[in-house]
Amino acid sequence: MKIYDPFRKRWFEEEIKLPINVRAEALIATFPFVDLHTHVRLNGGEDYFSLSRAAIAGGFLRLVIQPNTSPPLDDVDVLQEHERLARGKDVRYHWAVSLFGNLEPDGKKVVAYSTDGFRYDHVSLDDALSRKRKKAVIFDHSQVHELEGIFYKGASLLGASRPISNEAIAMVRTVLTGVENGFERFHIQHLSTKLAVETLDYLRKYAYVTCEVTPHHLFFSWQDVKNADFKINPPLGSEEDRRALISAVKDGIINVLATDHAPHSEKPSDFMEAPFGTSNIEMAFSVFYTVLEDLELVVDKLTVEPLKILNLQEKFTGQDLVVIDPEMEWIVDAGSLFTKGKNCVFNGVKLKGKVLGVRKSGKWIYWDGEFLESEVPA
Ligand SMILES: [Zn+2]
Repeated sequence: MKIYDPFRKRWFEEEIKLPINVRAEALIATFPFVDLHTHVRLNGGEDYFSLSRAAIAGGFLRLVIQPNTSPPLDDVDVLQEHERLARGKDVRYHWAVSLFGNLEPDGKKVVAYSTDGFRYDHVSLDDALSRKRKKAVIFDHSQVHELEGIFYKGASLLGASRPISNEAIAMVRTVLTGVENGFERFHIQHLSTKLAVETLDYLRKYAYVTCEVTPHHLFFSWQDVKNADFKINPPLGSEEDRRALISAVKDGIINVLATDHAPHSEKPSDFMEAPFGTSNIEMAFSVFYTVLEDLELVVDKLTVEPLKILNLQEKFTGQDLVVIDPEMEWIVDAGSLFTKGKNCVFNGVKLKGKVLGVRKSGKWIYWDGEFLESEVPA
C-alpha cells in the first residue's frame, strides 16, 4: 500500500495487513487526523462515546474539546468530569478551557484558553487577559457580540445584519489587547471572510498568529443556505470569501484545517430559534479533499500543523494509521452518522475521497462503517 508520512513529507510502499480482503493498490495510509476544534455537548447531547465513534469514522484520533459544554468547562470539577467521561476511549482528548473561567492550561491535557461559545466584549476580554497565564495560546472565536445578526450583510437572508467586518475587527481586538497584556500566541478559529484573511498579515507583525478554516466555510457560500442547519457561527461568507479562504489554504496563510463539529440532536427548523452549528466530523476529510484536491496538503493540515500549534511531538511509526480511498465517490446520509448531531449541512452532498479504516497502536479499530474493538460506553 502507498503510505504518506506527513512528518517527513515522504511517500513509501509497504505491505499492510488489512482487517478484510480488499484490493489495497488504490488505497493510501497515513497518520490519523487531529482536530483543534470539536464540540461535545453532554447532558443528553453528543457525549464522549458518540463523539469518539464519529471522530474515528472521520479518521480522527486526537481532538481538542471547546469549553462551551453544559455545564461550561471553567472549573476543576467540570474538567475532572470530562476526564472521567473521556477515559478508555480510543480517541485522545485535550481541552481548551474558558478564557473567562478558573482553569489554567498545563500544555498537555489542557492545551489552550478559548473564547469559543462565550459572549464577551472588550471589557471582559481585557479583564480576562490581564489575569491569565501569558505563555498559553489563546484560541479565539473572533466575534464582536454586541452586533447581532445570524448571517452576513449582503446575503439575501433573514437576519443578515452582521457586518462582514465583524470578524476582522474582533481578531484585531483580541490579538492587540492580548499583546498589550503580555500574550504572544494566538490561534484564530474558523475564518470565514476575505477581510479576516487579509488582516492576518497585519497581526503577524505583532504576535505568533495561527488560524484554521472549517469544511463548511470552504464548501459553501451564503447562496447555498437551504435550511436552519446552515445557521452557523461565523456565518457562511460570499463566494468571493469562499474563494479567498481556499487560496489562503493553498498559499499557506491558513495553517490548519479544523472541523468546528457542533452537534445538535434536535435543531428547530425556524432560523431564529435554531442554535448555531453543523455536525461534520465524519465527512470533514472528504470535504477538504473534494475542495482542495491535494492529498498531501489536506493531510499535513490535519496532522503535523495542528500538532505544532499544540506543541506536541509525534512521529510516524505505522502503529496508528488512517486508510483512505482517495477515488471513492459517495453521498452523505445524515441519518446514518455515528454522531448524535443530525444537523448536517452536507446531507445529500456528493464527495470524493473517504476514510475507510483506522488502526490504533497496531490494532484495527474501525473498518468501513464497523467498529472492530469495543470501546467503553459513556
Ligand atoms: Zn466552535
